[in-house]
Amino acid sequence: MKITRLSSLSEPALCPRLVIKVGSALLVGADGAPRRDWLAALVGEIASARGRGQDIIVVSSGAIALGARKLGLTKGGRGSLADAQAAAAVGQIALAGLWAELLGTHGLTAAQVLLTLEDLEDRRRYLNAAATLGTLLGAGAVPVINENDTVATEEIRFGDNDRLAARVGQAAGASGVLLLSDIDGLYDRDPREAGAQRIPVVRGVTPAIHAMATGGSSSGLGSGGMTSKLQAAEIAEMAGMALGIIDGRPSAPIACALEADRGTLFLPRGRKPARKAWLGGRMRMRGAVHIDAGAASALARGSSLLAAGVTQVEGAFARGDAVAVVGPDGAVLARGLSEYDADECARLMGHPSRAHEELLGYAPRSALIHRDQLVLL
Ligand code: GLU
Repeated sequence: MKITRLSSLSEPALCPRLVIKVGSALLVGADGAPRRDWLAALVGEIASARGRGQDIIVVSSGAIALGARKLGLTKGGRGSLADAQAAAAVGQIALAGLWAELLGTHGLTAAQVLLTLEDLEDRRRYLNAAATLGTLLGAGAVPVINENDTVATEEIRFGDNDRLAARVGQAAGASGVLLLSDIDGLYDRDPREAGAQRIPVVRGVTPAIHAMATGGSSSGLGSGGMTSKLQAAEIAEMAGMALGIIDGRPSAPIACALEADRGTLFLPRGRKPARKAWLGGRMRMRGAVHIDAGAASALARGSSLLAAGVTQVEGAFARGDAVAVVGPDGAVLARGLSEYDADECARLMGHPSRAHEELLGYAPRSALIHRDQLVLL
């Protein structure tokens, strides 16, 4: 039994653990106040899912939008990083309080988890976050997660909760991620154009699929848009999770969209080993190595990356940092953890392994990126 349609996401046997991501525009009205009745109905759906035996993790936006109103900030609190940080500090308390209160009416306990990008990019911190989520779910709580916007600076932000939701799902070993949006899925062109068609099922986020995504968030309240949803779908597919996009605007949106199969479902690819999926889902690369066609086909056959096939080194990375591997056509083929720093890579590139000891002045490692530390995209 596999996830084949949107309704599979509500079946505990197919999807025992589900991440539900709720965008700012759904949670916060145009007046800046929380949309309480809508949220109460959604929490009712979460309670039913729990009743069926599904573990639910919520990724909730809305802190910046809620806080901006309380502080009287313009542009929904997104005018500057300082505004967003301050708004999030104020809004997050209200947001968490609301979730705790409404989940509590169904006898459910909310658990607030605030994460930064680095919490999930660093392997040790990622495993720590994964363990905490496991403990919370095991104890019956509903984790309510947001980015820790108050301490995140521009360079170290997820910036959107779509990718955060996919990374969280991966950390928590979820089978599915459901993005509640202000549109009912991915369209083959700008949905405002006449004749635009919704794509019900996507098998693989190919360049053709990327070409369908247009623009940023239509509401102006969140920061997502279809581009970040596709990036989330790529993370999900590599982690062996299904990802659905549905219209979150109706009251109790999940049951109606899933039953009517109305939305877009991105099917999972085969689940990669956990460490490789984590590596493939990493968002920040410290540099890149460009390789020739011979090295590219060796990687495709499952080999490690040798310095002989490297043609160019970019960035100032250290040993153990994540780097992108770029093929001769300029496309990123793989990601991996480098066995050398950028200077050493530059010294070794183009040279066969037997020359490395002399070039480095010490005993070389077996490869520039070992195949165990490499994930093909
Ligand atoms: N973390 C942001 C907030 O709570 C939302 C990010 C997004 O728009 O996806 O307001």
